[in-house]
Amino acid sequence: KHVAELIAAGEVVERPASVAKELVENAVDAGATGVTVEIRNGGTTFLRVADDGCGIAREDVPLAFLSHATSKISGREDLDSIATLGFRGEALASVAAVARVELLTRTAEELAGTHYVIDGEGEHICEDAGCPKGTTFVVRDLFYNTPARMKFLKKDVTEGNAVAAVVDKAALSHPEVSFRFLRDGRETLHTPGDGRVKSAVYAVYGKEFTSGMIPVEYELNGIRLSGFVCKPSAARPNRSMQNFFINGRFVRTRTASVALEEAFKGSLMVGKIPSCVLHLRIPLGTVDVNVHPTKLEVRFINEKPVFDAVYHGVKTALNRGDT
Ligand code: ADP
Ligand code: MG
Repeated sequence: KHVAELIAAGEVVERPASVAKELVENAVDAGATGVTVEIRNGGTTFLRVADDGCGIAREDVPLAFLSHATSKISGREDLDSIATLGFRGEALASVAAVARVELLTRTAEELAGTHYVIDGEGEHICEDAGCPKGTTFVVRDLFYNTPARMKFLKKDVTEGNAVAAVVDKAALSHPEVSFRFLRDGRETLHTPGDGRVKSAVYAVYGKEFTSGMIPVEYELNGIRLSGFVCKPSAARPNRSMQNFFINGRFVRTRTASVALEEAFKGSLMVGKIPSCVLHLRIPLGTVDVNVHPTKLEVRFINEKPVFDAVYHGVKTALNRGDT
């Protein structure tokens, strides 16, 4: 493999969780109604993502693994209004550069599906396969050809937890998709995929969190806010359960976090950290998602309307609950 490609791969692929994130996003982009993620050994030796989405047509399979191959944007102007989760067309190329990748896929139109095997050395198998409509990726032996990077991997438990977190966020951001997560043969998550945020939250966080949830429905300045907030609790001492989704994408946003915490300040519980699962629909074009390779951070063209919408939306919900 060319050094430049391996370096580029490092930007997207840091650990099993980053592979899971890219593959899960692709599955959602493909219109899947069910996505199964399975890992062994924290995802380091085995990571499978199976979906029932649109599949990849035979002639497109090799192309999908080329760097900057994407079927999701066509022109420069598209970069300003990205609606799909994936858009840089680097994920598959990056993963295949540093792991052994096996793919089974079929579109609805095709009679035979495709079985494809590729790794850091190149393509090994491309043949017919009988398989259901949809796509299954199996990624084995991550960083088998870059031992220096493999050394940076943490214990299997830690890597596995990071993959679990990725699936959790995906499940919360897409309640219309049923997610299953299997860890060393054990199922640890299965969301109903009934489209309700509440049932996804229940599956991910359990009864205690769900019973404390205060519903939020609000709109301000073209920003739609919906979901739930949860009062501070000793069981949730940090911000890891503050979930913000911008146009379906899980993001870290200080603006929204501060707004949430400010909104809680006026009420009785002071000083503690509230949790939330909040979906923000904001007009494409007012948010820049193309900031970081792993796309966790977004940049708002204008912070104030976002702050205001979250602050007033949460405040309104809390006041409603108090009376
Ligand atoms: P991007 O998602 O940025 O377009 P990727 O490298 O992640 O780039 O994927 C390359 C292409 O492969 C996608 O544009 C899509 O056409 C195809 N693809 C990848 N995963 C799937 C999937 N699970 N189902 C259908 N098509 C897929
Ligand atoms: Mg992608």
